This record gives sequence, C-alpha cells and structure tokens, in this order.
Amino acid sequence: MTFADIFKGLLLSLISLVAVADAASNQEQSRTWITDVTIISPENLDHIGQGSVLIENGRIVSVEQNKRAKKPAGATVVSGKGQFLIPGLIDSHVHLASIPGMSFDPPAGKSEMIEEYFKQLPRSYLYFGYTSVVDLAVIDHRVLEDFRQAPLHPDLYDCGESLAFANGYPMSFLPPTTRFKIFPNFIYDPKQASSIPSEYRPEDHTPVADVARVKNSGGICVKTYFERGFARDKDLPVMGPDVLAETRKAATQAGLVLMIHANSFEAQKFGVEGNVDVLAHGMWHWGDLDNKTDLPVEIKQLLDQIVKKKIGYQPTIQVLQGLRAYFDPEYLKIEAVPKVIPKKMLEWFNSPKGKWFKKELVDDDTPDAAMLQMYDQGPLRRVRQVVVYLASKDANFLFGTDTPSAPTYGNLPGLNGYLEMQQLQKAGVSLTQILRAATISNARKFKIDAQLGTIEPGKIANLVLMKKSPLESLDAYDSIATVWVHGKPVSRDSLAASSNK
Ligand SMILES: [Zn+2]
Repeated sequence: MTFADIFKGLLLSLISLVAVADAASNQEQSRTWITDVTIISPENLDHIGQGSVLIENGRIVSVEQNKRAKKPAGATVVSGKGQFLIPGLIDSHVHLASIPGMSFDPPAGKSEMIEEYFKQLPRSYLYFGYTSVVDLAVIDHRVLEDFRQAPLHPDLYDCGESLAFANGYPMSFLPPTTRFKIFPNFIYDPKQASSIPSEYRPEDHTPVADVARVKNSGGICVKTYFERGFARDKDLPVMGPDVLAETRKAATQAGLVLMIHANSFEAQKFGVEGNVDVLAHGMWHWGDLDNKTDLPVEIKQLLDQIVKKKIGYQPTIQVLQGLRAYFDPEYLKIEAVPKVIPKKMLEWFNSPKGKWFKKELVDDDTPDAAMLQMYDQGPLRRVRQVVVYLASKDANFLFGTDTPSAPTYGNLPGLNGYLEMQQLQKAGVSLTQILRAATISNARKFKIDAQLGTIEPGKIANLVLMKKSPLESLDAYDSIATVWVHGKPVSRDSLAASSNK
C-alpha cells in the first residue's frame, strides 16, 4: 500500500462519510413528528385524545394516541402542546379562473393587479387551511396549470369543462358568438339547431362524448346545470330527464362524480329524480312557494329523499352573502380581507369603479338597508330553513363555497370558506357536521378518501394545526398556526398577501 493509496482511501471514506451525513439530514428534513397534540380526525371523533403524528416523505406514516410515545430517530419535533390537529380542509366548489369583482372581461390597466391576485390565490386558500380544492368548470386551462406550478399550492382537482346545455345557463351570460368557445363541452340540443354554430356536430356533443372529454382531461367529476335563469336571463333552455339520464349513465361508466348546479325546488327535484351525486347549491328559490313562511311539506319530502339517497349537498350560502356584500358597509372591512388579496385590489374594490357590479344587482335607487332586508327575508331565509332541516336529519353535507359565484368581491379565496362556515353554523349546522363536510365527506364523495380527508397512516400529510378546537368554536378556523402541504410546514403568517413573502 503506497502513501497515495492510503490517501485515496482516506479521501474516499471522507467522501462517503459526508454522503452518509447528507442522507441523514435529508431524512431528518423529510421526517416530522408532531407530538403532544390533540388529534381531531373526523372518522374518530368519539376517541379524541393527545397523541403524535409521524410524517415521512409527504405522507402520514403513523398516528399514536399515546402520551408517552418515543421520538422516532432523526425526526424534526414539532410540539403541538395545547393545540389541535385536523386534516387539511377541502373546498369542493371553486372557480379558480374567475376573478372576484370582475367579469369575464376585466377592465383595462389592471393586468399587474390581476397577476398579483393569481400569484396569491393558492396561498389564500392555504391561509384558511384549504389544502385541496375542486374546480367545477374549467374555462381557462392556463390558470389551473399556473396554480399547480405554484411553489406552494393546495391539491387541485377538477371537473374538466362543464356540460352546459346549449345556449342555457351559464353560456347565456356570454354573447352568442363567444359562448360556444368558452363552453366547448356543451350538450347539443337538436331543437336549437338554428342557434348553434354549424361547426359543432351533434354527435360530438352528446352526453357520452362530453363525459369522455372530461374523463380524458383528467377530471374527477362531471358538472352540469339546471337553471331557467333570473333577472334579464329568464326562460333559458334546460335539459330534459332523458339527457340527464344519459349523462348519469356515462358518468357512472367513467367512474366520475355527477354534480348539478341546482338552486331551486324544481331544479333540485330534477336532480334528485335523475340520481345525481351532488347538488352544488342550497335551495333558495322555492318557485310558487317563495312566500311560504314555514318550510312547505312538498319541499320537506324532497329533502327527505336527498337524505335517504345520501346525495352530497353543498349549501353555498355565501353565493347570496356575496351579493349582499355590496349593500353591507362592513364587508370590505373584515380584518382578513387584506390577507387574501393584494392591497391594490382592495383599494380598487373600495373605489366607485370597483363597485360596478352593484349596479347589476339593483337597478333603481333602492336604499341599501332595503336590499339587505330583501336578501335576509327572501333567499337567505329560505336556504337557512332548508339547511336546518337537512342538518336535523344529518344529511350528507359537502363543504363547497362556489368562490367566486358571480363577478362579486363578496367571495374572496380562502376567506370565503371561513365565512361559509359561519353561515352554515348560523343556519343550524353543528361544528361536527361542518368539520366532516370539509374533510371526510368531501373526500369520500369525490373518491379521494384513499389519499385525503382524515389523519390516518398512508394518507397525504395535508394537516392543519390550530390554537383552538374546531369542535368548540368556529373561530378555531381563524386560529391556524401551521399548515402542512404534502408534509411541508408553512406558517400561516407567511401565507398572507400582506406578508411580502
Ligand atoms: Zn359554481
């Protein structure tokens, strides 16, 4: 053995020592032990206790309900003393490409503000604990791609391009020339052949062809609509039971969840009779029964069927609150608003131009107070009566916000979830029902429960650490300390739009 050999050997062992140390630190980084924490997992609410959760490489590997559990080798320890751990929340009704307070056609000179908004968008959902979202109607693939490419973002699922009935809601909001371009996965209606551009062939726009396109694009759900319209867009064309039945059959064969936009008694009846999986709104239009002060018996009978069939129910009360916001001087003053949108955007919302949508909601000089009363005594009253009835029967609530549901600034990302929870509670949904709706029930209905929805070994380590218990008060959801996204810890403060990070 020469001196050179010895030297080489020493060098090699040094290198390998360094390599071993490197591997150890990598492992250390990817192993986290959250300990001494109250674990609140929705499948196990009868046995809540202190324990520890071990995360490795983005997954939960063990959950121990044992105070004296030993620290696993090489793990980074996070003390959850006095705090509460829940699974990451799921919002199963969002529209990422729609910008709050803006129409499809944003005003000129706002591109920088819009860019900032989209950069903040994934972080705002995380700020309120939403580690998964479902986009129900893809209208701009680029926005979804950018969201998925963001350094930090919730898991994003989608229903592909939605199945709007030709010239019906929501295509009807767009001029006839552009509506087919924005909703290319529409359902053909032979009765309207003269008002469908000839480049679209009927055979390419059957429910079967449309559902296949959703499946091929990677969608997990199919979104369709039953809406006769309101205000200036009344008497819109709607599908018949035959079309819904074909859509149902195609969705089942493709293994996709069938959702219907339905917010009236008539529409929800249509959806229930067609055996949809999810009603994507609460029922705030009762048709001829609108002025009945008690929940009418025929509506109760329908709600009983919704409960019996275990149809997923998204009350989306914030849809109404989002419109009401234009008449409520307190809305833009909510403390969390600057946390979820860029400063410039809030300034614009506070300017007269930023309130353009208000004029779409009220076309005379009705005082704000009268408008508030109209919402409170009309649609809000009705949806609350429906929701409290469903809550009393322990219906299969799914948590979805429909953010934003209109060009309204009253539905801001992340914050809207927290406000929707407040609305659910006000309408009589219990804290346990709210937690289940936003975790396990969403995960099960959307068939993502092998990955998400509870704190169990094998699941993705999407977790939320809170200072208060979400089973004791709703403000727990605004007391978040840390959010884990695929095992990566993020402090809540660093997610705020105002944090400069
Ligand atoms: Zn929606």
